Amino acid sequence: MNKSTDSQLRSQRDGVSTPEALLSEYFGFDSFRARQAEIIRHVGNGRHAMVVMPTGMGKSLCYQIPALGPQRDDQSLVLVLSPLIALMQDQVHSLQARGIDAAFINSSLVREQRLQRYAEIAEGKYRLLYVTPERFRKPEFREVLANRSITLLAVDEAHCVSQWGHDFRPDYSRLAEIRGWLNEPTTIALTATATAECRADIYRQLGIPEGEIQLFHEGIDRPNLKLDVREVWGDADKLDAIESTLKDDEYRSGSVIIYFALIKTLERFSDALLSRGIDHVNYHGDLPRDKRRRIQSAFMSGKADVVLATNAFGMGVDKEDIRIVMHAETPGSVESYYQEIGRAGRDGNPSLCRWLYDQNDLMTQMQFIEWANPDADFYSRVITLMSEHPEECRGFGLDWMNDRLQRVSRHDHRLATAISMLDRHGVIAGSRPPDCFQIIAKPPEMFRDDEFLAEKKRRDQERLYGMVELASEQGDRKAFLNRYFLGTSEDHS
Ligand code: ADP
Ligand code: MG
Repeated sequence: MNKSTDSQLRSQRDGVSTPEALLSEYFGFDSFRARQAEIIRHVGNGRHAMVVMPTGMGKSLCYQIPALGPQRDDQSLVLVLSPLIALMQDQVHSLQARGIDAAFINSSLVREQRLQRYAEIAEGKYRLLYVTPERFRKPEFREVLANRSITLLAVDEAHCVSQWGHDFRPDYSRLAEIRGWLNEPTTIALTATATAECRADIYRQLGIPEGEIQLFHEGIDRPNLKLDVREVWGDADKLDAIESTLKDDEYRSGSVIIYFALIKTLERFSDALLSRGIDHVNYHGDLPRDKRRRIQSAFMSGKADVVLATNAFGMGVDKEDIRIVMHAETPGSVESYYQEIGRAGRDGNPSLCRWLYDQNDLMTQMQFIEWANPDADFYSRVITLMSEHPEECRGFGLDWMNDRLQRVSRHDHRLATAISMLDRHGVIAGSRPPDCFQIIAKPPEMFRDDEFLAEKKRRDQERLYGMVELASEQGDRKAFLNRYFLGTSEDHS
């Protein structure tokens, strides 16, 4: 038994800081939810865990509580890998408000702040530290951590690990290496959506054999969510369905999100809804940042109760009383659908998740898949353009490049994909995406490998096909989701 388990057991016996006591002391909650307590004890005993729990159920406590009890020594640290800067900032601020010694390091810090934080970490400050996996590219950061003993490594939103996943981040494929630098700490991976295939990928990337990591699977059912699919034909039919859903007495009391795939559809529907006298706000990625922030806070405060949104809206939207989540256009995968409906009914009250399914909308998603999967020839042309005309790329930007690359369609988004992929893989750099036009490294083999790129596209198509299957499911749609995420053979009791 190592020292940490020993001291934790002792304090549990003495009743000083059991997980339950810490939960009430720091968070003011009286009891753990689902298998939180079991998971916290499991990792406290130095054993690895894979946690799959619906969004909003409370995955974070599974790694936050372990940072609060008596520690192995005063250099102990829980390190959290999180993919999104906004998410980690929110979490850290709310932890600090509870008097917890937490911090993040990310690109929002200016150099002096970052160096100061490095110094503090080296000195043993902070019990919880949030970073993106990209942070490990910096040797200074690895050095700073060398002084600390990582009692727990938490990999949040672990579905980003799977290279077939909808949200792949190349730096997550260095997890085994990162664990090596940290002396193979006890590791907990957490996500709301991981199919059996995705989990196997996560174990492989962590470098932990499946037999050494315990799966805690909550199943994916949210009993208070009612899922339905309404088949519609064209815009007018869809508008009627939106209007009648908004008038449904059972779900009137709270907030509503209506998801669209395309900004232009969102705007068209926004006009139509206004002319029917239905008040709402709009949220999408083309709006300036401060406007987006204002709309999000109007929604959070309940001042605006209906929001029309693209998938840019959601991460960090932790509002209790969202009564209706409607999909007015088909999402690209069961994973996205499940994440988006997961925002409904966090307070446990009955909530409606209605998907307005127009078969024609599948074309939009098929177009997205094309844009999201440039072939090797396209990558090679982008790279050539950047290396032969660096000045023009920097000076004239995306529009100029687009003209050079594709005279056929100006609305083709392949260039945006190519730039963000090359950036993620550390091939190009610049002020910030999409303004990254400077080639800094040789592109990895995958950008030349048509077979690999085609396989990725095929997986995207397969995920979209999952939505078609979900639409045609005649039986229990929740059972379908369970099969989709758990695999048929698995027992998740
Ligand atoms: P997830 O990461 O699974 O989406 P979070 O960890 O962000 O969920 O938690 C969602 C919300 O649930 C938070 O507001 C959190 O404070 C709350 N919560 C978590 N565990 C408990 C608990 N045991 N009792 C009461 N509230 C909890
Ligand atoms: Mg979370």
